Amino acid sequence: MTYPSLPLAGVLGDPVAHSRSPRLHHHWLQRYSLPGAYLPLPVVAADLATVLTVMPRMGFVGANVTIPHKEAVLPLAAAVTDRARRIGAANTLTFRPDGTFEADNTDGIGFLNALLQQAPGWESAAGPALVLGAGGAARAILAALIDAGVPKIWLANRTREKAEALSAFFGPPVAVLGWEDVDDRLSAAALIVNTTALGMEGKEKLSFDFNKLNESHVVNDIVYTPLETDLLAAARRKGATAVDGLGMLLHQAAPGFARWFGKEPEIDTALRTAVLAP
Ligand code: NAP
Repeated sequence: MTYPSLPLAGVLGDPVAHSRSPRLHHHWLQRYSLPGAYLPLPVVAADLATVLTVMPRMGFVGANVTIPHKEAVLPLAAAVTDRARRIGAANTLTFRPDGTFEADNTDGIGFLNALLQQAPGWESAAGPALVLGAGGAARAILAALIDAGVPKIWLANRTREKAEALSAFFGPPVAVLGWEDVDDRLSAAALIVNTTALGMEGKEKLSFDFNKLNESHVVNDIVYTPLETDLLAAARRKGATAVDGLGMLLHQAAPGFARWFGKEPEIDTALRTAVLAP
């Protein structure tokens, strides 16, 4: 099978209208004067397998997947990367010449690259990481932090059982911390990551004592609506290094773009401005 001259990619989700991915891929396509298009693709769960069979025949070279399809694509894939298998979900699919696809997960590497870009002084050996939340994003972030060599990760979640399940899966570097014990551990953590939905527009806020933060802390909030969460504002007030959630969103997109359109894209201020534009 040969691909047509206009390579297509898109994001599969339900709903998908809110996704910023089309905007960021369009920015890169224009910036590098590459042929191609990237579309929002609303797909309900019942259609997922059929859509993925037909897409390569229509000229699609790859796709991102978002809620609720990130786990459901794994059994449909002809190949699953080690990191996607470990995370138990995929966000980046690449179609192969025979019409099958490989499923990968770039959330963890996206998180890590954003952290290194916005907090260049951060070192994995600097001390323990405190991770709030034990959902899908936390799973990718735990894998990335362990691979980066963080020696100890305290994992706290409202529903303790979910944190315990992740700790059992990832092993000794990940130790469960009670939600009620977070305040006591803030000072000792070198890196604090919010992976919960708390702080998002329309949601409650995190209610820990962030007055305990200081210049030595790196604080990463993966929530990006709003971009400047209360957690990040508190971190900046106390002199800590703040890393926003937009960075992870942009960095997780880069490997797919490189694979599908043949160019390693830059993640810079122009991209952030384009993606944030109203
Ligand atoms: P998820 O699997 O649904 O997990 C949600 C997490 O938030 C769970 O740990 C949950 O705790 C916690 N939570 C929700 N409401 C809470 C509340 N009222 N009090 C305490 N904890 C609460 O979602 P996800 O996919 O991991 O995404 C989590 C957040 O990360 C979302 O805001 C999402 O937008 C953001 N995100 C950002 C990026 C990025 O690229 N920047 C990528 C992925 C996700 P329980 O287990 O107790 O319910």
